Amino acid sequence: MIRIAIDGPSGAGKSTVAKALAAKLGILYVDTGALYRTIGYYVRSRNTDPKNAAAVEALLPNIEIDLQYVDGTQHVLLNGEDLGDRIRTNEMSLYASAVSAIPAVRSFLLDTQRDLARRYSVIMDGRDIGTVILPDADVKIFLTASNECRAKRRYDELIAKGQTTTYEEVLATMQARDAADSSRTVAPAVAAPDAVLFDNSWMTPEECTEGILNVIKEKLGDPADRI
Ligand code: C5P
Repeated sequence: MIRIAIDGPSGAGKSTVAKALAAKLGILYVDTGALYRTIGYYVRSRNTDPKNAAAVEALLPNIEIDLQYVDGTQHVLLNGEDLGDRIRTNEMSLYASAVSAIPAVRSFLLDTQRDLARRYSVIMDGRDIGTVILPDADVKIFLTASNECRAKRRYDELIAKGQTTTYEEVLATMQARDAADSSRTVAPAVAAPDAVLFDNSWMTPEECTEGILNVIKEKLGDPADRI
């Protein structure tokens, strides 16, 4: 079994790199941000203020989240319904960030995440994987890039999905979300002391993937022997 944690702010390229590594290593890629987005989506659908901890907590018993993997691609089901890209909007980013600061939401999602890592070799991306979810992960990476690079990547992604937005709006949303994520009291998005820091502002996704693969090999030898 092998457990790799990839944490870092939004738009650092975590999912691109984690997906590529999962395919190379033949292990499961788990996108934990999708879980918070799904809760954000439900809260929005109930016209509830995502910052109202008591109101959000009261909704949790109505939420059942299942993760399914089809050809290595993660699908999140909310009460049996696959939400697809509906959780990928700018608005859902802000809802996810707001609900993720609520301790009851974090503990609600804890077992789902740990349970996957107990059953499968995983590469999991998020904000607190190396610090809270898998403190004993075999390899921990903290991935980042400059604000401008990250905002440009996120903007390109949203436009490619057909959404209407501007670079300035994406940059502002991203900075607000980063500030909230890294300053919250529960599970702030910070690097674990034993994480390897990677700034990929000037790397292609392939270069970044190779660099992290080398770190994994240095730490674990041939990963294939462990899976
Ligand atoms: O990674 P993604 O941008 O999809 O995450 C959406 C939001 O969910 C983040 O801004 C963060 O507030 C929250 N999140 C978190 N812990 C994680 C993953 C995501 O708090 N492990």
